[in-house]
Amino acid sequence: MSEHRIAMVGTPCEIMAASKLQHYTDSPIDVKLGLFCMENFSYKYFENLLKEYGLTMNDIEKFRIEKGFVFLFLKNKETVKIPLSVAKRIIRKNCNICVELTSETSDISIGSIGSDDGWSTLIIRTEKGEEIVNGAIDEKFIEAKELEESQFELLYRIAETKINKNLEYIEKREFFARPVLYQREKSDDLINKEISESNFMDLKSNVIDVGACVLCGACEYACGDNLITIDDTKPRMKGNCPEDCHACFAVCPRTFIPEALRNDNSKALGDFIKVLSVKSLRHTQGQDGSIVTTLLDYLLSNDIITEALIVDKEDLLAWKPYAKITNDIDEVVKSGGTKYSVCPVFKPLRDIKEEGK
Ligand SMILES: Cc1cc2nc3c(=O)[nH]c(=O)nc-3n(C[C@H](O)[C@H](O)[C@H](O)COP(=O)(O)OP(=O)(O)OC[C@H]3O[C@@H](n4cnc5c(N)ncnc54)[C@H](O)[C@@H]3O)c2cc1C
Ligand code: SF4
Ligand code: SF4
Ligand code: SF4
Repeated sequence: MSEHRIAMVGTPCEIMAASKLQHYTDSPIDVKLGLFCMENFSYKYFENLLKEYGLTMNDIEKFRIEKGFVFLFLKNKETVKIPLSVAKRIIRKNCNICVELTSETSDISIGSIGSDDGWSTLIIRTEKGEEIVNGAIDEKFIEAKELEESQFELLYRIAETKINKNLEYIEKREFFARPVLYQREKSDDLINKEISESNFMDLKSNVIDVGACVLCGACEYACGDNLITIDDTKPRMKGNCPEDCHACFAVCPRTFIPEALRNDNSKALGDFIKVLSVKSLRHTQGQDGSIVTTLLDYLLSNDIITEALIVDKEDLLAWKPYAKITNDIDEVVKSGGTKYSVCPVFKPLRDIKEEGK
């Protein structure tokens, strides 16, 4: 058992990777705070798109996506709107085969859809999640109210629309022999057999080379021989894999999903205990209701976790995300706000693994 109890924040695909790490390995991740996520973008292509509007990443104070537009709130207090129909071309390819909006395998999911401005929608999925939210309410870190029926219906409808659109895309891909392994429903016995016959080369041909990689870095983290490195575009492997190693293939969120973590897509929000609308009573600098920041504050202040695994912005490259582990609440506050591109979120966990060795 790891001495670390880490709370991680991530998009649905990253949370699925964390869930697979928990399922297949001795993972230090204890609490999963999942974000809602409709799509994500390539940092480099985003920079190029901004150039067409005469802007750079450095000009942006905050991004927001709603009502069919990417809103850019500039540091000079102006607002620029890019239609999503235009921004569509910079969406990462792997997002077109993603059939989760709300991080269904998290303990608590958080997003803005459904709630009023300044509030967040929060889905409690596990007993652990419920205990955390109740504690945060009792200790006055957050306030909560019921989500109105019409707000819940809106959230459900949007989740269903994402799933159905991308299921159609998946069907087309499978027709052209571009596999989407994570949507194939197999028994755990068959999955274990597939895993036992697979290594990095199978990950490469079935996920990385066919535009399905979400760049989460779970494969890099899981590789006991440190053969995988991951850059801005994809994971690469150098060296010879031991015959009995299949770790990277097992933990990847885009290979087969074990039965315990799978949703057959008939429930657009997955399984949950309760849905609430919540607001922070402690922080305001976040993307929506600052709920992620506040829950991490509550978890750290009460020693429920030892560290938080968060995604901050690089100092020298504006809005470029990078993952870090911290137990400093000021760093958590600084990392508030949504970065609309990806980074290998599990990278900082490697140091902890090395420590364990
Ligand atoms: C790519 C992306 C797309 C999203 N799309 C939607 C959407 O369509 N609808 C919706 O309702 N909500 C969406 N969200 C979630 C939303 O933007 C907010 O993150 C969420 O509402 C929490 O807000 P907050 O104020 O509570 O969080 P904050 O208190 O601001 O904390 C945000 C936390 O998110 C983490 N974070 C920021 N960027 C990333 C990233 N790229 N990857 C992983 N973690 C990150 C940081 O670690 C930070 O701790 C999306 C988030 C991301 C990252
Ligand atoms: S694959 Fe894309 S749309 Fe799906 S959760 Fe990951 S970043 Fe979001
Ligand atoms: S050693 Fe194992 S985890 Fe590392 S690349 Fe090879 S198969 Fe994957
Ligand atoms: S190949 Fe590696 S980086 Fe890509 S999705 Fe799978 S685990 Fe994540």
